[in-house]
Amino acid sequence: MNTQDLIAAAGAVQQALLAQEADIESLDRAIGDGDHFINVSRGCEVVVGLAPELAPLPPSAAFQRIGMKLLSTIGGASGPLIGSFFIAIGKSVEGIAEPDRRRFAEAFAAGVEAIKQRGRADLGEKTMLDVLIPAARLLQRLADAGAPLAVVCAELPAEAERGMLATRDMVASKGRAHFLGERAIGHIDPGSKTCAVAIGAVCALLAAETTP
Ligand code: ADP
Ligand code: MG
Repeated sequence: MNTQDLIAAAGAVQQALLAQEADIESLDRAIGDGDHFINVSRGCEVVVGLAPELAPLPPSAAFQRIGMKLLSTIGGASGPLIGSFFIAIGKSVEGIAEPDRRRFAEAFAAGVEAIKQRGRADLGEKTMLDVLIPAARLLQRLADAGAPLAVVCAELPAEAERGMLATRDMVASKGRAHFLGERAIGHIDPGSKTCAVAIGAVCALLAAETTP
């Protein structure tokens, strides 16, 4: 992947999240404070707006620039978490002009690890990590096995969707939803929805590019 791919992915994620605005907003209204869509759409806007500045940078610097910008512009719990995700990806691909799929899978896992550290959270706590951890594991498995891009683009969104749906039956032990105790059961975590939508959007973009 190169920085142009990253810029194209940001645009695709922005469009896909916009199409899910009502859903994401109502999920955070149900078990959070209702600002999650605003936070992530503001994040998308600033990243898309950074495109001219990102274009000449290598992927490592572009990811880190995005992360720093998100840290300072997205509010709520998700800003520092998503910001640290991008910064860790950038650090992981330092010195690599065009990371291949295996390197990218490793970098994605490093990004997810940064969220775990920063949020002091893990699987099963009803957060975005319930999508990101299984997605990172699957991505690494597929990359190690040399799976074709079409297979990655089909399997990853399905795994993300499963992780997202699994949050519905969980009690939250992190984030605002944990104040609700058992009342959070029955609602999908908004951050997990956002991540599933973003993964779906990037995979759809890549799949469309590889179709002859
Ligand atoms: P806030 O909760 O401050 O209003 P947002 O609404 O933007 O921030 O983001 C909420 C989302 O952040 C949750 O749905 C959850 O997925 C994620 N989240 C919250 N706390 C954590 C944490 N400690 N670790 C990982 N993700 C978290
Ligand atoms: Mg919120």
